[in-house]
Amino acid sequence: MKLMMLINELLDYGLKKNILDEIDFDYDANLLIDLFCEKEFFRIATKPRSIEVILEELARVAYKRGIIKSDDIVSFDNFKAKTVDLIIEKPSSVVNKFYRYYKDSPRKATDYLYRLSIDTNYIQTQRIKQNLKWQHQTEYGILELTINLSKPEKDPKLIAMQQANPAGQYPQCRLCKENQGYRGHLSYDSRSNMRIIPLDLAGEKWYFQFSPYSYFDEHSIVLNEKHVSMVINRGTFQKLLDFLDMFPEYFIGSNAGLPIVGGSILNHEHYQAGRYHFPIEKAKETYVGTVGNVEISCLHWPLSTVRIKSSGKEEIIGFAEKVLLQWGDYQNAKLSLINDKSDPHHTITPIARKQGSIYIFDLILRSNYLNKEYPNGVFHPHPNLHHIKKENIGLIEAMGMGILPGRLKKELALIGQYLSGENEVLNKPALKKHLSWIEMIKSEYNPSEDVNLFLLRETGKIFSQVLKDAGVFKMNRIGTSAFSKFVSRLLDV
Ligand SMILES: [Zn+2]
Repeated sequence: MKLMMLINELLDYGLKKNILDEIDFDYDANLLIDLFCEKEFFRIATKPRSIEVILEELARVAYKRGIIKSDDIVSFDNFKAKTVDLIIEKPSSVVNKFYRYYKDSPRKATDYLYRLSIDTNYIQTQRIKQNLKWQHQTEYGILELTINLSKPEKDPKLIAMQQANPAGQYPQCRLCKENQGYRGHLSYDSRSNMRIIPLDLAGEKWYFQFSPYSYFDEHSIVLNEKHVSMVINRGTFQKLLDFLDMFPEYFIGSNAGLPIVGGSILNHEHYQAGRYHFPIEKAKETYVGTVGNVEISCLHWPLSTVRIKSSGKEEIIGFAEKVLLQWGDYQNAKLSLINDKSDPHHTITPIARKQGSIYIFDLILRSNYLNKEYPNGVFHPHPNLHHIKKENIGLIEAMGMGILPGRLKKELALIGQYLSGENEVLNKPALKKHLSWIEMIKSEYNPSEDVNLFLLRETGKIFSQVLKDAGVFKMNRIGTSAFSKFVSRLLDV
C-alpha cells in the first residue's frame, strides 16, 4: 500500500509539473510497478509532496525489497535518477519541445529545460541550498565565495566497495553524451534523468545541458559531441560567439586547455555558460586603443585580462586570435613568463558575452609554467594558501567566484571555537594545516566581532591572494608596466 501510494505520488507530481504527458500515464505507471516487481497498479488520491521526499522513500522501499543491493549514497542516487527518468519524456520529445519554445524566444527554451532539470531532481536544489555563500570586498571589486557542500561525502565503506568494482571505459567521461539515460553503477554516479539539446557550433555538433551542481544561475555545460581534448584556438572563439548568437542572454567561457590552469576535465572539450554576471564583468577597465572596429582595454583584475569589444563578429574573432598568438610569443624571463612552443605554457581563459549587437571577450592570460621554487605552478595558488585552496584556478574562479572545498565548513567552525577561547581545539588533526594561518589572524581578531563573519572575511582575503598568485602580470609597478607594453603591442597593425 505504501509503495502504491508513492508511485501514485510520483505520477501525480509528474502530471502537475508537466513532466509526463497525460497520454503516457498508463504506460509510465506500468514501468514504475515493473521496477518494483509489482503485478498490478491502482489509483490512489495523493497530497503533493516534494520530489526529494518521494524519491527517497521509493529508494528505501527498493532497498528493503533487495532491488537496491546496498544503502550507499551512489546506489540510492542512481536508483532515484532511474525512477524519475521513467516518467520523463524521451530525449527526442524534450529536444523537439525545446526547439518549439526556441521559436518563440531563446529564453522560453532555456526556461523550459531549466525548470525540467530542477523538477526532475537532476539539479538537486535541496542539496545545493546547503552551500555556504558570501561576498568579500577587495581593492578590485567584490569577490564571491562558496563552500561547496552539495556533493555528499563518501563513507569509507563505499570507497572500499568502489575500489573492488572499478568503473570501465563506458561512458568515456562524465561529460560524454552517452551519459543520458545511463543507469550507472556502484562506481559511477549516473545522470540518467538528464536531457541534452543538440546544437550546431561552427559547423560541429555540440550539446547543451545544465550543470547538476549549479554554482550560479542557469549554470550550463556546452559539450562537444566527440570525446576530444580541450583546446583554445580560433575555433574556440568562433564557437563561443556562435553560442551567444543562439543564446544572447547568457555568458559563455572556456577553461584553458592546459593542466594546472585548466579545469578538472581536460579530456573532453566543453564550455560553461549561464545567466549570470560574474565579478570580472564589473572590473574597472582602462581603455588602450581601437584597431579597426575592435576596442581594446585592460582590466583592473588580479588575473591579467584583455577586454575586447566589437560589433563585427569575424573581426573580433580575428583579434582574439591575435591576442592568443601574441601571448604565445611572449617571453619575459624576469617575470617567469617563459613559453616553449613545443610544450606550451601560455594559453588563455576566454569569456564571451553580448551586449545588444556588441560582442565582448574577456581574455585572461594564463601560464602553467613551473620551476623548482614552485613545482605546482608559478601562477597557481602558492603553498602557503593550500590549506584553503590548492585546486586549479579554472574559469569560474578566474571570473571571481571561489569554489572552496566542503571540509572548510568544519575546519572554520573549529577555528572559531579556538578563537572564542576553547584552546584545546587547536590540537585537532584537522587544524594542523591551518596552524600558521591561525597564528597570523589571531592577533587581528577582536572578540566583540562575530567570529564566523571574521573567519569568512579572512578566508576571502586568502582567496583574493589565490587569484593574485594566478595572475601572470602582477598588480605592482613592474607587472603593470610589462602588461601595458604587452597590450600596447596589440595596437600594431
Ligand atoms: Zn567524454
